[in-house]
Amino acid sequence: MGRLRDRLARSNSAFGRGLLAVISKEQLDEDDWEDLEDNLLQADVGVAATTHIVEQLRTKSKVLGTASPDQLRNLLADELVEALSPEMDRTVRSKSTDGKPAIVMVVGVNGTGKTTTCGKLARVLVGDGNTVLMGAADTFRAAAADQLQTWGERVGVDVIRGPEQADPASVAFDAVKEGISRNVDTVLIDTAGRLHTKIGLMDELGKVGRVIAKHKPIEETLLVLDATTGQNGVVQAKVFTEVVDITGVVLTKLDGSAKGGIVISVQRELGVPVKLVGLGEGKDDLAPFDPREFVEGLLA
Ligand code: GDP
Repeated sequence: MGRLRDRLARSNSAFGRGLLAVISKEQLDEDDWEDLEDNLLQADVGVAATTHIVEQLRTKSKVLGTASPDQLRNLLADELVEALSPEMDRTVRSKSTDGKPAIVMVVGVNGTGKTTTCGKLARVLVGDGNTVLMGAADTFRAAAADQLQTWGERVGVDVIRGPEQADPASVAFDAVKEGISRNVDTVLIDTAGRLHTKIGLMDELGKVGRVIAKHKPIEETLLVLDATTGQNGVVQAKVFTEVVDITGVVLTKLDGSAKGGIVISVQRELGVPVKLVGLGEGKDDLAPFDPREFVEGLLA
């Protein structure tokens, strides 16, 4: 198994440990089933998914008669994987078929890790043999463009930026234009996520999207969500799905978060797959999300 599993196992997630502690008995009584439910809820799995998982587990363990801790662990693992919709397509579309660069727009509330994710994703794409250009369309946060530039230097990718307070849409436009003229595979656009009002966000992001669309369609719009913000973060994230066409979620700060269950609730509530997870602040701390690896890491 790969990196995600190892990294999660090493972070010794409180979520996974809690689950394993509950199911390590020979015979589960009513209190134990309730404990299991509490553990799932506390980890932000969400009410509907938690109820379903526990019901399935109870039924299946009853069918088995006496289920050993190992059998229960495997049943729980299967239910968690199932709850993560393993059939969803999680590839990040980083190449387009129209001879122009694929446009990957990165959106989300400020502070969730957008700029960091752009940097880390650029590194992954370059590592996969793509040529990449980044556009610093977060022109509201003074340091955002500098921060992206630093990431660009770190991972060997050029950054297109505008003057301070420039119109985000014009920076995005320039980046795409430059990407086309340089014939790169992927243009990554970092955006601002000021969630002051839905209308403001719509104006801002909507305009960025429209301006880019003059050049070509956007292949991928990744929504960045901070795993430590819990259900509140999911509610905020929902606003973005009403403004732009989200194609995937990047769940950041999963390292050390006891709220890993949010992967399940965010997919259920937003209806889009978690494609990548952030596991730290370093340049190699972004991993593709794989439901089985994730669960095996949790329950390792
Ligand atoms: P933005 O405002 O959305 O662009 O957020 P930034 O990219 O500036 O990130 C905000 C903070 O979160 C920074 O201190 C990042 O280093 C940190 N951060 C981003 N992703 C991760 C992650 O996956 N794990 C951890 N531990 N920190 C992260």
